[in-house]
Amino acid sequence: MPSADITEFRRVLASSKKILVLSGAGLSAASGIPTFRGEGGQWGKYNASDLAHRSAFEEDQSRVWKFFHYWRELIRGKHPNEAHYVLARLAIPGIRHAIAPDSKLTHITQNIDMLCTRALTETESALMQLSDSEIIEMHGRILDVICTSNHDCDYHATNVDSPICPGLAGTETKVAAGDWTAVVKRKDLPMCPRLGCGQMLRPDVVWFGERPKRIEEILELASEADLCLVVGTSAIVQPASRIGGMVKEHGGKVAVFDIEKSNHAEEADFLFLGPCETKLKEVLGV
Ligand SMILES: [Zn+2]
Repeated sequence: MPSADITEFRRVLASSKKILVLSGAGLSAASGIPTFRGEGGQWGKYNASDLAHRSAFEEDQSRVWKFFHYWRELIRGKHPNEAHYVLARLAIPGIRHAIAPDSKLTHITQNIDMLCTRALTETESALMQLSDSEIIEMHGRILDVICTSNHDCDYHATNVDSPICPGLAGTETKVAAGDWTAVVKRKDLPMCPRLGCGQMLRPDVVWFGERPKRIEEILELASEADLCLVVGTSAIVQPASRIGGMVKEHGGKVAVFDIEKSNHAEEADFLFLGPCETKLKEVLGV
């Protein structure tokens, strides 16, 4: 049975030197960001796996770009919530070392909304202190684009334009309404700006069937961590279950923060149920 004892958790936290945070969709729920894969992950006649897939892009680039354009525009209007800020404060050494002396922290997020990074940047400037922790966005970043050339073009950039190209302007409201009839011609979709390349850009987001970014590094971190906070992500699905499992294998502790109990939560050492935007602060005290 996992424990919900905050005092005991803080004792474990205080003696942890290598701390991992693994976050998922539940972290951004209070920011009004819908889940990509789970319930509500349905856009008209398509679901996420029909859209965020290489074969879908090969079949219909217009459809896939409309979907990601819709996401880009949706996320543009959203803001980090208190849960993002609590984790951002934990990344500031002056704050973290008061509750976990001499510890290191790495935050691995499955979210593509870039809100963890935004919260960290805002926190650093508000406190005038720099973080000593890295955020690994293992499923990519919604505003990043990468060239689809299989040859020698390695164009990769963060693109904050709204819309990303004139051809996609306004298609987001139709997609939101489940209307997929508009077709954007290939030449009007985002193209690689490098001279002489001429290939299409794609969002630098990890699609279904693709390997998460920096996975070897993530697994190595898991094999060494003595505490893993699993926040707002179902520990049932890979890689959350694998990472938590690896931490436990070598004697590390796993603390799950989630809105409701999932099947694998039984295997956690600590289980704190409730909205992350209030529960994290209550339990971590930062
Ligand atoms: Zn290119």
